[in-house]
Amino acid sequence: MKTYSSEQGMDEIKQEVPCNLCGSGQYKPRLLCNGFTFVECLRCGLVYQNPRPRDEDVLSRYGNDYFTYEYENEANFFGLMLLGLNDVDFSGIEAEILSSPDRRKKFLDIGCATGRLLEHVRGRGWQEQGAEVCRESVEYGWSRRNVRIFHGTLEEAAFPDAEFSVVHGSHVIEHVLNPAAFVREIFRILEPGGYALITTPNVEGWQARLFRNSWRSAIGDHMFLFSKAALGSLFSNTGFVTQKIKTWGGLAAGRGPKPLKRLMDKSAKVLGTGDVMMFRCLKPAGP
Ligand SMILES: [Zn+2]
Repeated sequence: MKTYSSEQGMDEIKQEVPCNLCGSGQYKPRLLCNGFTFVECLRCGLVYQNPRPRDEDVLSRYGNDYFTYEYENEANFFGLMLLGLNDVDFSGIEAEILSSPDRRKKFLDIGCATGRLLEHVRGRGWQEQGAEVCRESVEYGWSRRNVRIFHGTLEEAAFPDAEFSVVHGSHVIEHVLNPAAFVREIFRILEPGGYALITTPNVEGWQARLFRNSWRSAIGDHMFLFSKAALGSLFSNTGFVTQKIKTWGGLAAGRGPKPLKRLMDKSAKVLGTGDVMMFRCLKPAGP
């Protein structure tokens, strides 16, 4: 499966940005790609696109082409999300929260696209809420699934404090412009004892190391490429407790013979060197 990558406008103006994790402006090149560069912070190791497009140019990338991509791959992405949720024991979270009279039972999916996961969790007893920047995807979710979706960014939604029991975001945090603020906002809108479930490519995985600038996640729409350490710092700096980190994907389909792919997929999972990683983080209850 190909990762979505938008056509970048010729008139996009790029700007230098400091490290979002530690504020340092000192970096070295990490991945030189065609038309953009990922650098590595010399102080904390965060990998990020620098220079990068302006905020308004980044948001304008998620239009009709993006909707078509999400729509065509919907079943595939839904299946992968369920596997990820299974890996971080989402059924344990459901057992804990859905049976408790004191919990909100609200599930937020950030970057929910056409709302497939929202429809699924609603059927399991959650009150669903999405947030999505792509208008065409939002309208599809509203009209075909009748799911609640806010059209805009998480910050624009300005949800109330402690509104959600679970906040899920699959392949979103690498696209956002300020992941530190994004994680703080997730913390604010989670109830104490609530969970953040975040999936993103793993820049320290085998495929990233092997394929370098032709890695499928080294694309211009990704503003950040996280390692376990960098994402873990982002969560712990905010007050989260990371409970589980799972990775999967040893070799992308089509990059080698099937038996090799099976072996590498299995080994990557055991060793934690998979291509994609998922964090399960708890907002602790109490002070
Ligand atoms: Zn840094």
